[in-house]
Amino acid sequence: MPADPSEEMKDIAGQAEAYLLWMKDEGVQRIEAGNAPSPRAGSSQGVDVDMDLKKIAKTIGSCRKCSLHATRTHTVPGQGHPRPELMFVGEAPGADEDEQGLAFVGRAGQLLTKMILAMGFQRDEVFIANILKCRPPDNRPPLPEEMETCLPYLKDQIRLLKPKVIVALGATAVRGLVGLEGISKLRGNWVKFEGIDLMPTYHPAYLLRNPPAKKDVWMDLQEVLRRLGRTPPPVKPA
Ligand code: SF4
Repeated sequence: MPADPSEEMKDIAGQAEAYLLWMKDEGVQRIEAGNAPSPRAGSSQGVDVDMDLKKIAKTIGSCRKCSLHATRTHTVPGQGHPRPELMFVGEAPGADEDEQGLAFVGRAGQLLTKMILAMGFQRDEVFIANILKCRPPDNRPPLPEEMETCLPYLKDQIRLLKPKVIVALGATAVRGLVGLEGISKLRGNWVKFEGIDLMPTYHPAYLLRNPPAKKDVWMDLQEVLRRLGRTPPPVKPA
């Protein structure tokens, strides 16, 4: 969060704009007052979790368990609220993420932000991470052995965070977390990761290439809101 109040206002205005753009894309008619969710309570527990998350991030920062350590600029452990209701898991860092050490900050990340805001959350109220913590060269898909080596970090993070719902973004996230194949058939259908409800849906990078699929993702995200006991924003009939 920026220290300068004018920068903070710009930040809030930017988030509001992104929210309204996604809502407009999805045909949302009006936003209900009081529908905005808030992260789970438990601040002292949150502090402990935060410390443990930082320890994992530090371990990731010096990890050399697979060959991706040689080509990375920064590790990307993931970031967000230590006690989130909602967690998003993607595939791997891209160029922007590798540059900044933060998950989902490129074009796909901007779209993910719109999705999060359209659901009534702020980005810092959810946790965002990837299956891999280092960028594969030229953004190639993760190799099975890289996923197997890196996944324990993500699983440790999830066990600490205890989100109520995980949204798995794209085929690699679904394969990595629940070992299932076929994202177009799986999306929109609940599965479980270690007892946590997991919703498979498309990756925002796919939506950038295929905007009509945004409708499917919005349906999946509405289902997530229902599972969290939230009222999804109303959408115009097709
Ligand atoms: S991708 Fe994962 S396992 Fe490979 S070096 Fe990076 S942190 Fe370690």
